Amino acid sequence: MSDGGTADFVPSAALDAAIARTAELLRDARSTVALTGAGLSVESGIPPFRGPGGLWTKYGEPPLDGYQRFLRDPAAAWRERLRPTEGWARGLRDTLDAARPNAAHRALVELERRGLLACTITQNIDDLHRQAGSRALLEIHGNHRWLRCVECHRRFEPEHVAVDPERLPPRCPACDGVVKGDTVQFGEPIPPAVLRACYDAVERADCMLLIGTSGTVYPAAEFPFEVLRRGGTVIEINPYESELTGMVPLSLRGPAGAVMERLLHHVGALADPRRASA
Ligand SMILES: [Zn+2]
Repeated sequence: MSDGGTADFVPSAALDAAIARTAELLRDARSTVALTGAGLSVESGIPPFRGPGGLWTKYGEPPLDGYQRFLRDPAAAWRERLRPTEGWARGLRDTLDAARPNAAHRALVELERRGLLACTITQNIDDLHRQAGSRALLEIHGNHRWLRCVECHRRFEPEHVAVDPERLPPRCPACDGVVKGDTVQFGEPIPPAVLRACYDAVERADCMLLIGTSGTVYPAAEFPFEVLRRGGTVIEINPYESELTGMVPLSLRGPAGAVMERLLHHVGALADPRRASA
């Protein structure tokens, strides 16, 4: 990728020192949680929703009462899911299908593997953390590939629910309830199980990495402040200033992929001091 890509970004000495400091914070933390948002996936080819070049700017916005529409006519919503006719739905599907995990997704997997990351909470629905190999993953707004029962809230990989275009909507294999896409729509409450798991993880955390999130969408927006309130530390990684910049102790300004790769380098250097000067 060219613009903001990982290969051509060289961190300044000040930024690199801040990244090295972050590696120490991760080493010393009891429990680190990553909170990721749309900015993380920009380097995977998924533009943000709003703003110039945004998906919704280009294709139009989804209806603000999407969830109520689903409940009123699940079969119609399913026909739209299977063969999207609305511009925003088609644009989103094509974009998500083409996206692949980037260096930042992979770095989070590596931090998890090294025992330095307790879990990743993501606001993204794009499945890229899962494709990269994250295991402790909380998808607070759901996953565009997965399905979920509106009655018992069980989540299913698509292969585990029979979808017959002649008999929509599909039914839950567990309770026979109506099944919808797992993505949390406008007007839809966040499923209670994932919300509870997020609060549990945040309550245990004494360190939080904020990556590519503007920190404006609730309830995720309150997570970093909960960590700070209990004396923990929060590090923001974002190419642009956000509403959180200035409110968190450490801000690393740069593309997520490049900064996270450099963070991995410093984490390795702490484990093996001979690598420190590389
Ligand atoms: Zn069910």
